[in-house]
This record gives sequence, structure tokens and C-alpha cells, in this order.
Amino acid sequence: LAVGGPPAELAARRRAIAPMPWTWLRQVHGARVVVVGEPGQWAGADADAAVTAVPGAALAVHTADCVPVVLAGDGVVGVAHAGWRGLAAGVVEATAAALDEIGPAGEIRATIGPCIRVECYAFGPDDLDRVAAVLGDGVRGTTSTGAPALDLTAAVGAALERAGVTEVADDGSCTACGRQWFSHRARRDRGRQAAVAWLEPV
Ligand SMILES: [Zn+2]
Repeated sequence: LAVGGPPAELAARRRAIAPMPWTWLRQVHGARVVVVGEPGQWAGADADAAVTAVPGAALAVHTADCVPVVLAGDGVVGVAHAGWRGLAAGVVEATAAALDEIGPAGEIRATIGPCIRVECYAFGPDDLDRVAAVLGDGVRGTTSTGAPALDLTAAVGAALERAGVTEVADDGSCTACGRQWFSHRARRDRGRQAAVAWLEPV
């Protein structure tokens, strides 16, 4: 589902998942959230998250190690692309806040998709300090070989907690050592998986 692929093939794959206009994003590792007011709005915008209260509007983020986060509340849904830079910039909290603005969202539930897990994510000490300064020392971990590592899902969990979201579903899949997923870091894969969320058309 990488957005650079052959257009007809991509369109067919999207249709098979959600036959409706898609909002995909030029992800820039920031914290900008777009509010989708009609199906397909903001497609190709420079942003890392999208929210909507409009049925029939598919929202997608594309990943190959970063964390795809889906947030759902009362009559609202959102997706966020959360790598370490976006997490440090507050993309998860911004997405939850945007849901409340277009809602009220009520109790928000989160789902985390496949991403690189701490055992596979060796991380430079300086950047680790930067993330820990924002989201706490719980983001510090070690790889399976004992090197300093970033625990991305712990970082997402801390950001969600800060946003008041406590219900988090996570199947635990690792993109780096789980071969059914694309991984930029482990294999330089050019493919991307997508997390797609929408409200059923009425
Ligand atoms: Zn792994």
C-alpha cells in the first residue's frame, strides 16, 4: 500500500479494503493533524495524523517500523503515524485532542499496529535522552543483544496516558523480526503497510 506504487494497482488494493475516498498523508514526522470534513479531503497533505466525524471517509497512515495508532471515540475516528520524532513532537496527544474538538469523543480507545519493538530497535543515546525528556524514562530499553534501545510502544503508551486514553489494544507484532511485515530498518523494504480507519457509511 505504499503511495508511490503503480496507481491502478494501488487504487484496486485500496478499494478492496475500503471502497471509499482515502485520505493519505505525506508523512513528515511532525504533529500536524488534519480534520477531514468530506471523504478524501486533505489527500496528500503534509501531516502525520487525520481525524474525521464523517462516515465514508477512509483515513490512512503508512508505516514500515513506525507505530500506526488508531483512535476511536463516539462518532469519531483518527489515525496517527508515530515515529520517535512525531512522538517527541506530541502527535498522539494532538490527535486525541483533535478528536475531542470535532466530537466530543467521549471515551477514546486506541489500537496499535505492527511496529518495530524494543528488542530490535537499537537507538543512539542522545536521541534516547531526547525522547525520555518528553515521555519519561519508561521509553528506555535494551535490544535482544543488550544495546540501548527505544521502546516505541512504551512511548506511545505514555503519550496516550497523557491524553487520557487508557484502553489500548496491541497485538505485539514486530515489523523487524516478523517477516510478514515491511521493515525499513531491518530490510530496507520499500513496501508499506497501512492502518486504515473509517466510520461506516450510513
Ligand atoms: Zn523484533
